Amino acid sequence: MKARLSFRLGRPEPLRKIAMSRLIDPFQRTIRYLRVSVTDRCNYRCFYCMPSQGMVWEERSHFLSFEELTRIIRLFAELGVDKVRLTGGEPLVRRGILDFVRQLSALPSLRDLSMSTNAHLLAGQAEALRAAGVQRVNISLDSLKPEVFRRITRNGDLEPVLAGIDAALAAGMAPVKLNMVVMRGLNDDEIEAMFDYAVAKGADLRYIETMPVGEAGIDGTGHFMPAVEILERLKRHAGAELVPAKGGKGAGPARYYQVGEGPVRVGVISALSRHFCDDCNRVRLTAKGELVLCLGQEDRVSLRDGLRRGLNDEEMKQLIRDAIARKPRSHDFNTDERRVALRHMSSLGG
Ligand code: SAM
Ligand code: SF4
Repeated sequence: MKARLSFRLGRPEPLRKIAMSRLIDPFQRTIRYLRVSVTDRCNYRCFYCMPSQGMVWEERSHFLSFEELTRIIRLFAELGVDKVRLTGGEPLVRRGILDFVRQLSALPSLRDLSMSTNAHLLAGQAEALRAAGVQRVNISLDSLKPEVFRRITRNGDLEPVLAGIDAALAAGMAPVKLNMVVMRGLNDDEIEAMFDYAVAKGADLRYIETMPVGEAGIDGTGHFMPAVEILERLKRHAGAELVPAKGGKGAGPARYYQVGEGPVRVGVISALSRHFCDDCNRVRLTAKGELVLCLGQEDRVSLRDGLRRGLNDEEMKQLIRDAIARKPRSHDFNTDERRVALRHMSSLGG
């Protein structure tokens, strides 16, 4: 009887249930990826990410506890999200992060747990993080020159970061992706050296255009360098064509290329292009539990309020579904400088 009923509805019952419990936005994009900022604090002050002074920090009591975060992530996982990235601020400065990772790894339907870090504290923790379930890391590395690195990060120290990269590779995190924000007149002379470094390490590399967030504005840094120019430089350096990599245009913002016959994939992230919005599969959770529906739009929904009002799991899931129903079609980086300039990447998690 049940089978006949399912037949009439067009799908076997279990499949229909799964489809109904998925998060699908008004533009038919399935949300499978959650980026979780566990703190807005950071041991660095990269100038394109945070102002030198006057940063308004979130009160720690407003942060979701790890128990609250785990519950929200479990609910997302039950709604079809199978990929979670921990970010910040700097995730490794939040105390208890390792136990939190262990809790998340125990969630049955989470397929992919990763982290974005500046790697300053990674060397001592990479092995434990890998054992706890962090499968891969993205590491910010804007320069290989200690003094330029310090200037960009305002107080950063290159040496522990390079040690952190080695430790991640030694721990078997794969892939290790290096993120270089390319800035004309500051570090663009290292486009080639960074490529050689990534090849030598066997790490993936992504060149990132400065995004119009916080002080960076549309070109608040005054150092904007477009992706096409970066790729042109790389082509000349490698003396080889850049061939779009197989599967190189996934749901993420990066476009990947194979450089000649080389082993390393190189990505470019160009926020001002809208090409990635059509395939967007992600939402972001801030440390205080706001669900940010688009990196380039203001709209957000407080899941913390729902949790602290005592909503049960079904009610929380409905809150999440209602939020996803508000996800906009695309960012407005190109058209609304004023609004994006009010926010900082450190609270959005990149
Ligand atoms: N602290 C960690 C790190 O630096 O990797 C994680 C958080 S950080 C906000 C995540 C990513 O955002 C980093 O790769 C950083 O370079 C990037 N980012 C921050 N502000 C940016 C901006 N204005 N334009 C482009 N990328 C930015
Ligand atoms: Fe900190 Fe990462 Fe922002 Fe740099 S980019 S200030 S390391 S959060």
